[in-house]
Amino acid sequence: MRNKVIAGNWKMNKVLSEADQFADSVTASLPNDDNAEAIVCAPFPFLPSLVEKAKGSDLKIGAQNMHFEESGAFTGEVSPVMLKDLGVTHVVIGHSERREHFAETDETVNQKVHAAFNHDLTPIVCVGETLEQREANETMNHIENQVQKGLQGLSDEQVSSTIIAYEPIWAIGTGRTASSEEANEVCTQIRNIVQDITSENVAEKVVIQYGGSVKPANIDELLSQSDIDGALVGGASLEPASFLQLVEAGT
Ligand code: 13P
Repeated sequence: MRNKVIAGNWKMNKVLSEADQFADSVTASLPNDDNAEAIVCAPFPFLPSLVEKAKGSDLKIGAQNMHFEESGAFTGEVSPVMLKDLGVTHVVIGHSERREHFAETDETVNQKVHAAFNHDLTPIVCVGETLEQREANETMNHIENQVQKGLQGLSDEQVSSTIIAYEPIWAIGTGRTASSEEANEVCTQIRNIVQDITSENVAEKVVIQYGGSVKPANIDELLSQSDIDGALVGGASLEPASFLQLVEAGT
């Protein structure tokens, strides 16, 4: 049985005091369930405080990006060494907003995924198609390409502990969720691709999340699907009550 993994992606929102209030409120009420994991992926400036506040609770703290080098002349960047040193456990890699606005490619995604494992961070690797690709029936090819290139060169053990987030770009922040069947169809395909590049055993272990307008009202149906093991949530992860409801759905 795979765990249900609910991750909030705050994107570029909140100030430190709001982040702290969120952590105080969520850590006080987080359901205690070994089968459901709760992660908040926050902007860099909040990470030290969030890690401190999450200590002693089951809440895990992630970053939304990082560089793949350990240190050096990369002005404005944050390294995996820095994240690990803070006590961060997860890092989102290759979010569609980073691919679109910050020129991330499947190659840099792959470098970052390797860097994450080299520093004992769990990568949440995002894949997803545009509306044009879906309408042109290119979804499956595109996803296959992104998964294969993103995970290239990893050991079976590393693949089995990667979290893959399927986020159709047309469903992000639009209020338009993929139907649970549509979402599951692609998540099943992702598991098949993982099986092709590793083994059935690894494919059975890998956690695959859906992301794109997930909210308390639709998460139960999404999580009831055979190959959806959790959610990567933007807007609905910002308020403690809503985030807690999402985590509760995973228990
Ligand atoms: P929304 O939940 O706001 O649609 O964002 C999804 C997302 O991009 C999470 O990474």
